[in-house]
Amino acid sequence: MTDQPWTASIITLYPDAMPGILGAGVLGRGLQAGHWALETVNPRDFADDKHSTVDDTPAGGGPGMVMRADILAKTIDSLGQDTRPRLVMSPRGRPFTQAFAHDLSRGNGAVFVCGRFEGIDQRVIDGRALEEVSIGDFVLAGGEIAAAAMIEACVRLIPGVLGAPSSREDESFEQGLLEYPQYTRPREFEGRAIPEILLSGDHGKIAAWRREEALKLTRARRPDLYEAWVQSGDYKKDDQSS
Ligand code: SAH
Repeated sequence: MTDQPWTASIITLYPDAMPGILGAGVLGRGLQAGHWALETVNPRDFADDKHSTVDDTPAGGGPGMVMRADILAKTIDSLGQDTRPRLVMSPRGRPFTQAFAHDLSRGNGAVFVCGRFEGIDQRVIDGRALEEVSIGDFVLAGGEIAAAAMIEACVRLIPGVLGAPSSREDESFEQGLLEYPQYTRPREFEGRAIPEILLSGDHGKIAAWRREEALKLTRARRPDLYEAWVQSGDYKKDDQSS
């Protein structure tokens, strides 16, 4: 056991962008309360010329610039020996998922290497055993928003950061399904009423309705998730319990 909280070390050319939105709301309060921690390291501080150059033109030609392996390696090494996963933000990476967030949140934190420009010299990815991770099939201008998204997904799972853990059970992806629709006051909005059953006070019926809506939504919007859920056998468990 260690007293160190879950710590995100973000390697970024834009340290002023952090904590940014991660400093707001429940995450910000958790940060202040010491439930998690964040540090930034700027590769520019490890550059060795008077212009603090961190990038250079791509070998083989082509547009844009590439972040240098030697400067990034020095930046990563400055963090010292560490058992935390070292992730590099990359559209080519392993897709980030809720299951991945759970795994990461159970550890001591992670190192998040944020690329810029056309990306990062492959040799530092290989040489420092960085795992490439993607937040989706689209291209950002830099890894900072990807890192912030991953950190937010992990930190909200750390005990003490969010309120009641039971409020997460029905959430999208927790059971392999998307969440049912939510409603709150007013009872009627522009002629649209809250579904009657949610006002019935019958918790069994409400749970069954929510389950049905979650299934319908998942089947319609994410047949891939629905199929995986059916294959997982949760389908059968559900059948027996109802
Ligand atoms: N030329 C690269 C994209 C570079 S975008 C390619 O075609 O694959 C610049 C940086 O933004 C990347 O190095 C990466 O750190 C970050 N980035 C862009 N899209 C991302 C995504 N979908 N997920 C995670 N990081 C991303």
